[in-house]
Amino acid sequence: MSEERSLNFIEQIVEDDIANGANGGRVLTRFPPEPNGYLHIGHAKSIVLNFGLAQKYNGKTNLRFDDTNPVTEDTEYVDSIKEDIRWLGFEWDKELYASDYFEQLYTFAVKMIEKGLAYVEDATAAEIAAAKGTPTVPGTPTPSRSRSVAENLDLFERMRKGEFKDGEKTLRAKLDLAAPNMHMRDPLMYRIKHAHHHRTGDKWCIYPMYDFAHGQSDSIENITHSICTLEFIPHRPLYDWFIEELDIFPSRQYEFARLNLNYTVMSKRKLKTLVTEGHVRGWDDPRMPTISGLRRRGYTPSSIRMLCERVGVQKRDNIIELGLLEFCIREELNKTANRVMAVLDPVKLVITNYPEGQVEEMVADNNPEDETAGSRVLHFSNTLYIEREDFMEEPPKKFFRLGPGLLVRLKNAYIIKGESVEKDANGNITTIYATYLPESRSGGDHSGLTVKGTIHWVSAAHAATAEVRVYDRLFNVENPAAEEGDLASLINPDSLTVIKEAFVEPGLLKAKPGERFQFLRKGYFAVDPDSTPEKVVFNRTVTLKDAWAKESKKG
Ligand code: ATP
Ligand code: MG
Repeated sequence: MSEERSLNFIEQIVEDDIANGANGGRVLTRFPPEPNGYLHIGHAKSIVLNFGLAQKYNGKTNLRFDDTNPVTEDTEYVDSIKEDIRWLGFEWDKELYASDYFEQLYTFAVKMIEKGLAYVEDATAAEIAAAKGTPTVPGTPTPSRSRSVAENLDLFERMRKGEFKDGEKTLRAKLDLAAPNMHMRDPLMYRIKHAHHHRTGDKWCIYPMYDFAHGQSDSIENITHSICTLEFIPHRPLYDWFIEELDIFPSRQYEFARLNLNYTVMSKRKLKTLVTEGHVRGWDDPRMPTISGLRRRGYTPSSIRMLCERVGVQKRDNIIELGLLEFCIREELNKTANRVMAVLDPVKLVITNYPEGQVEEMVADNNPEDETAGSRVLHFSNTLYIEREDFMEEPPKKFFRLGPGLLVRLKNAYIIKGESVEKDANGNITTIYATYLPESRSGGDHSGLTVKGTIHWVSAAHAATAEVRVYDRLFNVENPAAEEGDLASLINPDSLTVIKEAFVEPGLLKAKPGERFQFLRKGYFAVDPDSTPEKVVFNRTVTLKDAWAKESKKG
């Protein structure tokens, strides 16, 4: 971003390193997703930070799939992650997989055993936990801890060969059972998992734990600044210890605060639950905080990058308001989106003094904020659709729209006056009758009248039918991640409203999935891939103004 701002604390670290000649001034970061779900906007924060640092300091960023858990990972996720990073506007230097290092990591583990710094553990997970003590009570050694190096080497090799069942043995670091930091109390390095891996197939049945894969992978790649989120602070001493004992490239870990958004959840596990339980239509449901969901909703890469910039790089966890994300997209679309007319809750309006069968071509600017956006032609006739809410039979004072005897301007067309209505048996208005002032045509108005209200419309004979999907927040509570119990019970039942028959300018039939428009007075909308040549489907990206801020002020 060109906007002037002071350095964030990680940029400051990098600048100090460069000034001190660390790593010869080289900057190499990595983005290390686990391919067990789709990327969400929290990941975007990490992507913008890692790739942004490399761009700013003439460095590079690796994309490393942290695929050390065979059970949850899938190539579908790998593909979507690559697509999403590129869509956000970034390109990695190397595409790498932690699983490519399995052989190297195994060698590292053997080295740790040889140094007397790792042992094969017979105890079960529960027994290990029970012997671990508490932060104030030291742990007690298990019988396995005193195994000889030779015995450990033999058992570890047999673990690899598949002689043991899942959970029967693990490899642990021989570190410090009295360490105040529980992560240092002989943490697990390897576990047995007889499971098919999406890349290595059935070659391995032992898999390294995060703490014995991440730092080592960083080091293998010569990563200079390994940036992760705050929950890894207590892992840092372990990260450093392994690197030191293995005497490998000294990558360094730095931590920043996760991005959280209110009224949503951000963990992949929870997002996956929403998908598998059918609360949303998929990972790219426009209500999801995933990159693919936001894209489908109509968000742009630049609006997401702008959010990340505005949030900044923090050292303390906080929750960002959804309103800030919406502000970012509104700012952009106000400048870039073409304006069109769409009637979402249509009622018929007949202009009784306009000649039946006559059609006039009205010229409308596509975007008043952008002179280069050009103009388009709107067809005007005696039968139109307008929004039901723009007419009131008994309007209160200051209702500057249509009612019996009230004047209003039809955007880019004429001033009309409400006359009468026709209703069905239930008392619902089916047709509004009005008259128009021929001398009030937009652009050449010599009626001498000024009317306070302008409403949008489409000509009934020319309009195209559209489906419009209107979204609200997915959850009813501000911080669903903090609530106990079932996620499903916190979901907003009105998070999706489908308008099956809205009427829009016919030109929109040609709009392509992903195209974005401002529906005058209604908000910003993006074309959904579900669209067909006969029917366009729109997703509401965001309203024009923050309806929620207004609501909450009213109290
Ligand atoms: P989740 O809990 O959603 O599964 P994760 O941290 O396990 O997230 P990874 O795929 O391991 O997901 O994350 C890849 C990178 O993105 C990591 O460096 C991680 O720190 C970062 N990241 C994940 N979530 C956020 C977030 N909410 N804000 C900032 N960075 C994040
Ligand atoms: Mg993770």
